[in-house]
Amino acid sequence: MTETQLHAPMEISFDYTRSLGPVLGEFMTGLRDRRILGARAADGRVHAPPFEYDPVTSLPPGELVEVGPAGTVVSWSWQPSPLAGQPLGRPFGWALIRLDGADTALLHAVDAGSAAAMRTGMRVRPRWAGERAGGIRDIACFEPGEAAAGPWRDASHDATPVTMTVSPVRLRYEHTASAGESAYLRGLAAGRLIGQRCPACGKVYVPSRGVCPADGVPADEAVELPDIGTVTTFSIVNVGYPGQQVTPPYVAAAVLLDGADIAFQHLILGCEPSAVHLGMRVRAVWRPREEWGTSAENISHFGPAGEPDARYETYARFL
Ligand SMILES: [Zn+2]
Repeated sequence: MTETQLHAPMEISFDYTRSLGPVLGEFMTGLRDRRILGARAADGRVHAPPFEYDPVTSLPPGELVEVGPAGTVVSWSWQPSPLAGQPLGRPFGWALIRLDGADTALLHAVDAGSAAAMRTGMRVRPRWAGERAGGIRDIACFEPGEAAAGPWRDASHDATPVTMTVSPVRLRYEHTASAGESAYLRGLAAGRLIGQRCPACGKVYVPSRGVCPADGVPADEAVELPDIGTVTTFSIVNVGYPGQQVTPPYVAAAVLLDGADIAFQHLILGCEPSAVHLGMRVRAVWRPREEWGTSAENISHFGPAGEPDARYETYARFL
């Protein structure tokens, strides 16, 4: 069974970008200027990093107060094999650090050299990053010791408040295609569209997951479908985003291949977006054969087939 299934490394990555709001914006602006801010709660306790809403009163903090920069390790664990993207490339400690003047702890890395040098109660101070952009990484890490004699502030380089934060997100994984998906992909590699029919209800799924979702039985009868179908619904994409391969506006549509019982998503190109409509007949536009792989990208897009529209009754139950 396994030799019939395909697998491939996949990677999803994007930069998660969001606004910081007034409290975290001020906190990040402070870090850029080498100041660590906490928020004083209604009960008098100082939280660092600052809360956005008081845990007791649910109100925004009335004032942010400067804390640290040195502090005390209240708990820690050792990271013997740092992962890519972590604060340090050599073994380090993850620590909860209660900065001087604060009542809560901040999580950060401690460059202690070895686990034997780490202990609860140890005094640490921030090691500031050389280039600071208004983020938690403006503190490169903490290191053993008391605060250096001042001044440690550095507000000279930029007076613009920090309002946004960018968090790169990346997920790598190995995708193993189901038997049905493998058959579909191998079909694409040969220029064919292969669906699978459920023996119980007779419905044809493309691409198939190998099991009928309605009957729960294997749908393992291969059915070859033509590369022509009907637009059952669509949207016009007007919003740009990084990495986009087609310039907006363009149409993403659900295309019901002739003989299939489920529509699948594809691009509709080759005509004005305003010309795309329900019932429109479209045909697959394949990439040049020398570019083919075992991939859904062998079909570049769908384009107008030049046929009269499908009758509404033929696709009404797929809307
Ligand atoms: Zn079925």
